[in-house]
Amino acid sequence: MRIRDVVIGANASMYYKLNFGKIKGVYYPRSEQEVIAAIKHAHSNGLTVTPKGGGSGLSGACTGGNEERLMISSLQMKEVLTVSKDQGYIDVQPGITPDKINEFLTPMGMRFYIAPSSRDIATVGGILSTDGGGNDTWVHGTIRDKTRRVKMVLYDGRLLTIDVNGVKSSDPELETQLNKIGMSMHDVASSHGTLGFITELRLSIGPVINETLIGGLAEFEECNSLGRALNEMIERKSPVRYGEAITSAHVDVREDLNPPLLIVDFPTDYESEMKDIMDYKPLDKEGLARMKDIRLKLPKRNPKVGIQVALFEGYGFYGDSLVHLQDRLDMINALLIDHGLTPFAKYGHGPSKWYLGDNTPTYGLILHSREIKPEDKTGPEMLDTVLAIVDLCEATGITPKPEHKWLYSDELKKKRLAEIRAIIGQGFNPFLLSPECNEVLGSMV
Ligand SMILES: Cc1cc2nc3c(=O)[nH]c(=O)nc-3n(C[C@H](O)[C@H](O)[C@H](O)COP(=O)(O)OP(=O)(O)OC[C@H]3O[C@@H](n4cnc5c(N)ncnc54)[C@H](O)[C@@H]3O)c2cc1C
Repeated sequence: MRIRDVVIGANASMYYKLNFGKIKGVYYPRSEQEVIAAIKHAHSNGLTVTPKGGGSGLSGACTGGNEERLMISSLQMKEVLTVSKDQGYIDVQPGITPDKINEFLTPMGMRFYIAPSSRDIATVGGILSTDGGGNDTWVHGTIRDKTRRVKMVLYDGRLLTIDVNGVKSSDPELETQLNKIGMSMHDVASSHGTLGFITELRLSIGPVINETLIGGLAEFEECNSLGRALNEMIERKSPVRYGEAITSAHVDVREDLNPPLLIVDFPTDYESEMKDIMDYKPLDKEGLARMKDIRLKLPKRNPKVGIQVALFEGYGFYGDSLVHLQDRLDMINALLIDHGLTPFAKYGHGPSKWYLGDNTPTYGLILHSREIKPEDKTGPEMLDTVLAIVDLCEATGITPKPEHKWLYSDELKKKRLAEIRAIIGQGFNPFLLSPECNEVLGSMV
């Protein structure tokens, strides 16, 4: 492991470099009091702060802009504080991972049903800040659906608690103002650390579900029919427990898979409904495990020539863009080729759930994308390609980076953050929203 992996996280993001000259230190607080002290100390030294969890975010967020700064890591705040089986919640510090929560809950027969693939390294504070979820968001929602209460320290040391009743604060005037504009969990979800440092979360938990599932593999001639099948599952609210689409994969890494395809896992009672929606080949336990394994390994393997990059981790196809999936993918691939990249693999969760910038819940397919990068393509050129993809997404009804809520382009989210910023003033941390942010990210690619 290299030093940059310790600070930034060993992730697949293209934003993996830091200007170490600008990071003046890292705090590892253990309590709310120590977070307040860290913020105070940073400010008295004229420095801004960047909150950081597991460093697995894929939008470059925890890299934190271009100013001289201190990082506040949540990695020493990983305690379970309270658990109530009867009322179905657990109170935790922000630096704990979903895997650790479930290790704690398993003996009680309970479970925290938020499971991003990065659940062994991503922290719940970071997951809420990116509104993440796993390939079961379709059934269990994203983390905002499972967060009942959150406590935060603003970047001027004032305290906020947000739950279904609204906001409580150590500053009564601030409390009144924030309640007036209806600040809620929706605002904290995917705010990328701009609103405050999260110090505690109350998360919903539920009993372990015991049900018999059937696995299936459906192959499609082209992606429009795959998109239509997913759309029908969404319309019928089919209880798919695991749905993973592969729309394309490089010949060097796809083994005997024949994309486009969909791997599904669903309760036995829904066999006839699934047969109605698409032709699939039943998979036994081993067959399903093998398919999942090939899918998991796609982003971990390289082609014989060249290296894959995670240029633009997520596309959210829904509604019209889902039923015209092939047409949209053709446009994206044409853009990538135009910019000198070779499409390598596209795969992801469907049916899946995410929220649009106005907090409308949306259902569709979240597709991850990997490309082969030419050696001579520079960082700023890569960032230009990313920005061109965002434009294309917006023009064609695709959500850019649905799992990571890319602040730089989500106008509605940015507008709402500006409204809150006007109220919390110095307590707001604009580190990601500065006009030169794109330039900074470009230099880090
Ligand atoms: C291999 C891999 C697989 C992944 N799979 C998925 C997936 O299936 N689903 C999914 O949704 N995502 C996935 N991700 C993305 C990533 O795991 C998520 O974005 C995750 O939610 C980030 O959590 P983190 O603790 O690593 O946060 P970081 O990357 O450290 O930070 C993310 C953002 O949260 C802010 N932040 C962190 N902690 C706090 C805090 N305590 N208070 C305030 N702000 C804070 C940071 O400033 C930053 O803006 C994957 C990533 C990788 C590398």
